[in-house]
Amino acid sequence: MSLTKKIIIALILGLIVGLGFNLLIPSGFETVDAYLLTPVGSLFLKSIMMLVVPLVIFSIILGTAGISDPKKLGRIGGKTISFYLITTAIALVIGISLAYLIQPGTGGGFETSTADFEASSAPPIVETLLNIIPTNPIDAMAKGTMLQIIAFSVLIGFALARLGDKTKGLLRLVEQGNEVMMYLVNIVMLIAPYGAFALIASAIGKLGLNALQAMVLYMLAVLGALLIHAVVTYGSAIAFLAKRNPIEFFKGFAPAMIVAFSTSSSSATLPVSMRTAQENLKVSKSVSSFVQPLGATINMDGTAIMQAVATVFIAQVYMIDLSFGDLLTVILTATLASIGTAGVPGVGLIMLTMVLTSVGLPVEGVALVLAVDRILDMTRTAVNITGDAACAVVISAAEEKQNSTT
Ligand code: ASP
Repeated sequence: MSLTKKIIIALILGLIVGLGFNLLIPSGFETVDAYLLTPVGSLFLKSIMMLVVPLVIFSIILGTAGISDPKKLGRIGGKTISFYLITTAIALVIGISLAYLIQPGTGGGFETSTADFEASSAPPIVETLLNIIPTNPIDAMAKGTMLQIIAFSVLIGFALARLGDKTKGLLRLVEQGNEVMMYLVNIVMLIAPYGAFALIASAIGKLGLNALQAMVLYMLAVLGALLIHAVVTYGSAIAFLAKRNPIEFFKGFAPAMIVAFSTSSSSATLPVSMRTAQENLKVSKSVSSFVQPLGATINMDGTAIMQAVATVFIAQVYMIDLSFGDLLTVILTATLASIGTAGVPGVGLIMLTMVLTSVGLPVEGVALVLAVDRILDMTRTAVNITGDAACAVVISAAEEKQNSTT
């Protein structure tokens, strides 16, 4: 049986077992969760997270060294960032529109003063930009500060390309390091079905159905917007920009989406999403190595959609009208928030406070969406990494075209 099939079956079994415990034997859940589900889930998560920092370093150095021509690097970098910003803005518009259409927060019955939340404020833009340069690259690696690691690796890759023969040995070392990481990804993927099963059963067992009932409309709005964005926005990008079959794209990329769904972390899924894009979607290695790690760090369309819907939802519950200007502010801050969101579980919700404060909504509103966020986190993470892969496919196709005409 293929790994994808195994993971899908594990996912469904996890759903059934989690729900079963929650509905039938809630008292037994805690023990099973503490001694079986959480440890197995963590084993998988930790083994895959272990590979992220070295993989990003090796692959970005290789990716950049592979694009030795500064003009080409600028072209790919520019296209990648434009793709990311434009798709995030589209995601936000879809999210806001669907939230107004479905009106999840106007039905009443919501408790509005349940928790205290600290607003996280947006750091000044100059500081954010300066922060990309690490003062100590080793510290950045130790702390896993992705943008800094990426910046440092791009510079090393650029230098290797420029120095050519002089640093051939080091380049070879990086190539081999990359091979080793990819090999380890394959090994870790062997436990993916068990990990996926445990993670899902644990999440669903904790949540149960009750938490979901009041929130059905909100969830529908978020899930609907995620689906529309994935199918329409990415589907059209694949069909019209890359001139490839969208169905094949989604089919080929499915294994990575399932891992994203079970881990709720773009960062943890990165090794798998790169492998899947290179092997199943035939994205060129140098493009995938550059575009996907960057995307897993700064491109979070799914998260942006949740934030857009949640903002409108919270405004509706608190009966606060958002003006057109407010909505534009939401689009701007949520785009920045999604750039600043780390690819780990739950951060999107913390960044939501930033979006709420930008339009004067109470940050306590976050408490309203907290209960169901775990499930939405899984789905939006799958969309987050699909956006990165779509960008990689589009850019890979454009580069191929460029190469064949020159
Ligand atoms: N879990 C998301 C990701 O890793 C981020 C978030 O929305 O919380 O892509």
